[in-house]
Amino acid sequence: MTVYLVGAGPGDPGLLTVRGAELLARCDVVVHDRLAGSAILDMAPESAERVNVGKAPGDAPVSQEDINAVLIERGLAGHEVVRLKGGDPFVFARGGEEAQALAGAGVPFEVVPGISSALAAPAAAGVPLTMRHEVFSFTVVTGHQSPGSASPVDWRAIAKVGGTIVVLMAAARIGGIADELMEGGLAPDTPVTAVTWATTDRQEVVRTTLVEVGAAGVKAPATFVIGSTAGIDINQLPQ
Ligand code: SAH
Repeated sequence: MTVYLVGAGPGDPGLLTVRGAELLARCDVVVHDRLAGSAILDMAPESAERVNVGKAPGDAPVSQEDINAVLIERGLAGHEVVRLKGGDPFVFARGGEEAQALAGAGVPFEVVPGISSALAAPAAAGVPLTMRHEVFSFTVVTGHQSPGSASPVDWRAIAKVGGTIVVLMAAARIGGIADELMEGGLAPDTPVTAVTWATTDRQEVVRTTLVEVGAAGVKAPATFVIGSTAGIDINQLPQ
């Protein structure tokens, strides 16, 4: 009995790790979120139980306690359980909480990293995150905030760090975030590339600037890449 916290990657089944694919192919139970693509779920045996703990926008979310309870219960029953998570399990995915709950209940678990959309979405749009001699860092930030509360993120400080800024979970708030980044010193014409459904057949790329991104109408699930390299498209470089 083991619960595997498996990163599914950004969407394209080819970007699931070999280890993740092996575990999926022999599991008894798959516990997955809304963003898990059907091609990846199809890698599990037909006989495997599939538990969808994702929420459609607007639906009541399945609480983290309930998800933990499903993992613990299936694990203690002696099953091989794959807890499939979009991207990487430890990047804005509550993998840490699930690991703690499993450890507390005495259920063996293993973490299998995945390719985060923070890395895959820029690559899919042809945007390098760093550039030798020019861009020395990238910062990955969540744009999510609890309704009614102030952002826990100091966007003005992030504007001053330099390098590329990658923002997840921000489609609904990107205009306000862009304002704060400009207040922190980023130029209004700083390039922004937004990638929705990266690496899937629904992928859309919007190339814009910090001052205009709020009006661009980018829909979730989107990754925003902000900084000088967001103006590059390596697929369009002169040969
Ligand atoms: N653990 C995931 C992130 C979960 S938070 C990871 O490492 O990728 C969910 C957010 O991830 C979405 O709001 C969006 O910002 C981003 N995301 C997930 N899949 C994506 C995709 N295919 N294309 C673009 N962004 C994606």
